Amino acid sequence: MALIAAESLERLKQTADIVEVISAHTDLRRQGARWVGLCPFHEERTPSFSVDAQEKLYHCFGCGVGGDVIKFVEEKEGLGFAEAVELLADRYGVELEREQEDPRAEARRQQRRRLEQLLDRAATFYSTYLWDSEEAAKAREYLAERGLGEEVLRGFGVGYAPSAWDRILVLGQRAGFKVEELRAVGLVQRGRGGGEYDRFRSRIMFPIRDRRGRTLGFGGRAMRSDQGAKYVNTAETDFFHKSQLLYGVDMAKAAIAKANRAVVVEGYTDVLALYQAGFEEAVGVMGTAITGEQVATLSGMVEEVVLALDADSAGQEAMLRAQRVATGRKMRLRVAAMPAGEDPAEMMAGPGGAERFRALVEDALELEAFQVGLVLDRTDVASPVDRDRALGEVAPVLAAMAEGASREDLVRRVAERLDFEPAMVMGRVVAATPASGGADSEPSPLRGNASASPSTTARRVELTSRERRERALLAMCIALPDAGREYLARLTDGHLSPSGMRAAAWLREHPGDPASDLPRDDGELAGLISELVMLAHDEPASPESMELNYLLLEQRRMEGEIAAAGERGDYEGRAALSRERAALVERIAHAQRVES
Ligand SMILES: [Zn+2]
Repeated sequence: MALIAAESLERLKQTADIVEVISAHTDLRRQGARWVGLCPFHEERTPSFSVDAQEKLYHCFGCGVGGDVIKFVEEKEGLGFAEAVELLADRYGVELEREQEDPRAEARRQQRRRLEQLLDRAATFYSTYLWDSEEAAKAREYLAERGLGEEVLRGFGVGYAPSAWDRILVLGQRAGFKVEELRAVGLVQRGRGGGEYDRFRSRIMFPIRDRRGRTLGFGGRAMRSDQGAKYVNTAETDFFHKSQLLYGVDMAKAAIAKANRAVVVEGYTDVLALYQAGFEEAVGVMGTAITGEQVATLSGMVEEVVLALDADSAGQEAMLRAQRVATGRKMRLRVAAMPAGEDPAEMMAGPGGAERFRALVEDALELEAFQVGLVLDRTDVASPVDRDRALGEVAPVLAAMAEGASREDLVRRVAERLDFEPAMVMGRVVAATPASGGADSEPSPLRGNASASPSTTARRVELTSRERRERALLAMCIALPDAGREYLARLTDGHLSPSGMRAAAWLREHPGDPASDLPRDDGELAGLISELVMLAHDEPASPESMELNYLLLEQRRMEGEIAAAGERGDYEGRAALSRERAALVERIAHAQRVES
């Protein structure tokens, strides 16, 4: 296949006037080194969209989109990459040279296809094993007891992993795959002694597939109580990013498109039970909390999402994040109030379950109204302290909503129930609005005049302090590439969020110029890389602030390890780690003194 030569693309990006191209879709004003304006990708009243004419990138700090001029034309004109390139080349008179494809790229694609085949064969093996083996009788019984029929189980490719330590290891190698390949897709892992063994044993296996039905990983449910974790998933690999995937999306996508609605549930069996009962638009988040990335995926497919999650435990923070992402994308999030202690799978197995569930979905409340209701229900209105607490909890929920009648209604409801003046409630809402800086009391981890930057004044997608730190550090890794290389080598998934990990991997693979060749098929990552390059371009960086941000992330990592040691019952290990943390806290205090 003849490709457009990399030099031609580079020349095109340098020649095309990104400010001019984008100005056709929104008014841009110059602000310092950047151009800012209202985002052409989401509804907003205060500008959070900015263009860096020097780096030739755009990024919206509200909805997270970003990329180069080609990406902008692709998105805005609905064109493919090649078409967008041709359109721009035409307009700016750049001659495109073609070249034969890089043989390494072809090799990488072939390797990826091979790994896809491997996962596909493993899924087939597990499925056959579920239906044909003596060993899986208990698993078949368990699934039947949950009311799941063979047809739906086969449709979703549910299987069973044998108890042997090395069945996949042996069969995989016999089929011509290398141990490294088995490990690369997460089927096999290395033990403490260095030997390899199957990751999934004695577990019901749920293949996790992408929209096109390709298996990318597995969730495995324990069959015995002595097996440790009830659910084990494929570890994060180059292939498998759980926070981006929705279980059952391949089976649900047609129904989702037809209903223009998706129903989001927690678990694998919830999805299966709902599908069987005719709710084919159900997808699973594989955990209690929905991630921003999952919301973003859904927003490309539907306008309405009904969350049938255990809302009490689903994590207020995650819900708020989901709400912000949804608000940015004009998507409605509603909550079906599941009865306490009953999940959709259990409901489907009981009498009249499908009708009860249908009613819950139809009566689903707007996410904000649901969250506010939850807080108000729990409030002791006789106690002034409790009324204040409740107001503090609902303010950020209301602040994340778009202005309008629904918000006014909720403000009135809160004022009435808590016995405050509506104007006073509104005052708290305004103070909690991220754009005003009110809710963000933590100091920015960035140095310099960070408050003047659009990244901190206009961000709507609320970041956790850890995400702000990791972004600050990653941006400095771009600004100071030599030191950056060292930090990038040290950062692990204990330090970084899943999106941070992907960004770090990208920076490792593209040292020097991470934005010259943005990922084409991963919009989230392209947006994040654009943001980091722009931050690197106009936020000051220093070795001291890098070290400080790293140490703060290191503290987060250690706290995770300390908690894990506690959960394992390893109290000695926990004590040792706590001592290490104390030393780390000292170093942080020192680094903070140096930095200020
Ligand atoms: Zn936007």
